[in-house]
Amino acid sequence: MAKLESGLLLVSAAAFVLAACGDTDDQSASVTEPAADVAMVEATPAPEAAAPAVTVPAAAEQARGHATEVFWGDTHLHTADSADAFALGDRLGPEDALRFARGEKVTSTTGTDAQLLRPLDFLVIADHAEGLGVTRELYEGNPVLMSDPTLARWNKMMHAGPEQSAKATLEIIRGHAMGTNPKILQDRKVMGPIMRNIWQSRGSVIEQYNEPGEFTAFVGYEYTSVPGGNNLHRVVIYRDGPEITNNILPFSSTISEDPEDLWAALEKYEEKTGGQVLAIPHNSNLSNGQMFALVDFEGNAIDADYATRRARWEPLVEISQIKGDSESHPFLSPNDEFASYGDTGWDLGNLTLSTLKTNDMLAGDYVREALKRGLKIEAETGANPFKLGVIGSTDSHTSLATADSNQFFGKNVRVEPGPKRASRVDRRNPDALRVAWQYLASGYAAVWATENTREALFDAMMRKEVYGTTGPRIKLRFFGGCDFDAEDALADDHAARGYAKGVPMGGDLASCGDDAPSFLVHAMMDPDGANLDRVQIVKGWTDADGATQEHIYDVAWSDNRALDEAGKLPSVGSTVDLTVPTWTNTIGAPQLATAWTDPDFDPAQKAFYYVRTIEIPTPRWPAYDAVRYGADIPADADLVNQERAYSSPIWFTPS
Ligand SMILES: [Zn+2]
Ligand SMILES: [Zn+2]
Repeated sequence: MAKLESGLLLVSAAAFVLAACGDTDDQSASVTEPAADVAMVEATPAPEAAAPAVTVPAAAEQARGHATEVFWGDTHLHTADSADAFALGDRLGPEDALRFARGEKVTSTTGTDAQLLRPLDFLVIADHAEGLGVTRELYEGNPVLMSDPTLARWNKMMHAGPEQSAKATLEIIRGHAMGTNPKILQDRKVMGPIMRNIWQSRGSVIEQYNEPGEFTAFVGYEYTSVPGGNNLHRVVIYRDGPEITNNILPFSSTISEDPEDLWAALEKYEEKTGGQVLAIPHNSNLSNGQMFALVDFEGNAIDADYATRRARWEPLVEISQIKGDSESHPFLSPNDEFASYGDTGWDLGNLTLSTLKTNDMLAGDYVREALKRGLKIEAETGANPFKLGVIGSTDSHTSLATADSNQFFGKNVRVEPGPKRASRVDRRNPDALRVAWQYLASGYAAVWATENTREALFDAMMRKEVYGTTGPRIKLRFFGGCDFDAEDALADDHAARGYAKGVPMGGDLASCGDDAPSFLVHAMMDPDGANLDRVQIVKGWTDADGATQEHIYDVAWSDNRALDEAGKLPSVGSTVDLTVPTWTNTIGAPQLATAWTDPDFDPAQKAFYYVRTIEIPTPRWPAYDAVRYGADIPADADLVNQERAYSSPIWFTPS
């Protein structure tokens, strides 16, 4: 702790303390070893010049209504109120989740003390709407539920040790699939009041922890549509507090799996209450082409009405999380040597791995392609359904919102820290296997806002002044305008200049006549993390034939490298030492800033531009497990990666 306060660098990007590890039950059998030695692994201190402070005249900026601060959070966290999290052993509820996110020490389900060294600024507890909190009610012996003999029997089994508990879970899942579960669970008269009570008590807890100016606790949930195993999930986030959200219940995919019905429910909410709400799709990478399909849920071609409504309710997409990264794929972007990040295993099939993926599905799975498809659909219909800003989040099912490679807490309780987790099977298909080492310790949502309140953060999400990272707290600014130069980018008041002369990430470029637009990028390393390798601008556009194209420009980089003959920037190299494991910030740069003008600009073409800034190589979480636990890591596991931040795009539309 003292080290952090004095500004020295810890190896971890968002380390949390693991101080002890208690007894574990069978459901978390992988955790068998005290985790005390996990506590703090020090890295070589960064070079003296690391992470220079950049001062922005905050008061003046704030007075103009410009976003002065970046706030960090997780918009996608599950607790014991999610049926699957509970079934996998999670026993921490919303209150524990909020305490952890705010920086308090909590004891994980497997008995490990866990604490974020750097608290988050906001949290969305996004438990599945489907059966929200009911499994926990069953476990806690809700008297109404106990009146049914089967439910009473399951309650007893849940308390009769791990084996019986697992058996009860299996019976529930099978019964659900076969439609043989007790009728009482489908009885609206019985379940309605129970659900309302669960939803409203959550609201009270969330309200209690929401502290305007200090910490934002959003009301939200997950709409878990998964037709045929294809992931169409959305996280729903309210701008409003429980005094308004208590008047409704979450919209569940058991009512409809068609996202258009979710949008209708959101619209009704706003009409009825005067509140505001948005939805964020996630794991497009597991949709087998369905998330960004060219057709709607019924199979009809997307029209202007659909496109307009989709853009209205879904301004953002979750680009990175534990179940993989959804930015891009090598099949779609063969010239992008960084396209495969977080794809391994996840690109084998849909969420349930019930259907394997074919190459023709990939374009509907990845965000860069969706942005391109959006331009094409806009050219055809007049409206862009995929005008998407981006955020990252965890989708953790442990109640612990952390995306740290050095202290990865796992996708769910079964893969909380321990020696055997990296080789556990996540999903199985006769022809494919997803293995736990493929989980990413990812990601976080970064929001540029004027203050830390529900209203300010929500409004920033609506205007897409947000970005996503795979965990590191890289500070990223991106503006587009007509006359940015290098001096603007390097200036202390680069943000003020950005707002004065252009639009921030998420915005629309004004026309510069026939001149090419220029962009200001300013990226700073995570002060507790790794140096930056490079800053890239990814451009997508529609050409004269209406076809979509992409190009990736390296616009700023470290270590005085020169572009090769093909115009490619050579690799930054690696300082990773897997025996510790660690890396040193002796390569890369703590800060990269530049102004860039599009050399291939055509004022007649629709285009989007977004920033991808990439860290120098660092160890992945299985590399830490290998040393800490002497864990058997599968031979094909990736042990090193280059984490990154993705900005929301800036769009250009010919006038
Ligand atoms: Zn989901
Ligand atoms: Zn989720």
